[in-house]
Amino acid sequence: MPFNCHGLGCTSTGLINAHFMPQAFPRRIQKRSRVQNTTVSELRFTQRIPHGLFDSEILCDACDQFLGREYDKPAFELINALSAMEFARPKFEIANVNCDLLSAFILAVLWRCSISKMFDVSNINLLGYTNSARMVLWHAMPLSDLRAYRVLCQRYYPHSGIDEFYSLPIAATFELEDAQWHGYVVPLVGFGLWS
Ligand SMILES: [Zn+2]
Repeated sequence: MPFNCHGLGCTSTGLINAHFMPQAFPRRIQKRSRVQNTTVSELRFTQRIPHGLFDSEILCDACDQFLGREYDKPAFELINALSAMEFARPKFEIANVNCDLLSAFILAVLWRCSISKMFDVSNINLLGYTNSARMVLWHAMPLSDLRAYRVLCQRYYPHSGIDEFYSLPIAATFELEDAQWHGYVVPLVGFGLWS
């Protein structure tokens, strides 16, 4: 039986290879370090998938391109611009960063993993939030309505290899505002995004 695209209101069955993490990141790693990128998920650590893990049963071309245009591409450009900057330590603040874009981008990564049935991403699950996340991504609901969702951005101290590495979300529990949050951490070319 053919699979249906998961995009909001989409009935397409012509599905393509949809990457969980935009291919622009592994491409950047390859270009800068001239080595195969290091891709990792909680279950897999590999250099063998040069453009990252993908699923051929979740999205049609139009919906994949929509997410690419709205979130993946602008977030890649933003993260690239941020990584060219020198930061104060241990804390820094940059004015006027498009935080909603970063949050929505991480949400798009989490959502793609969440709707996938692949074993590699089976530990990433938005549970009851999967449908609301889709509504947010397709602009049918504001991001601020996802009240249980936060993203925290960290810059790792520069050390060898940190910029040549990324991972799909890894489940984590962390303390924020005196509360325990269940979420994911996404190491991404020198940044850590906690969501
Ligand atoms: Zn679609």
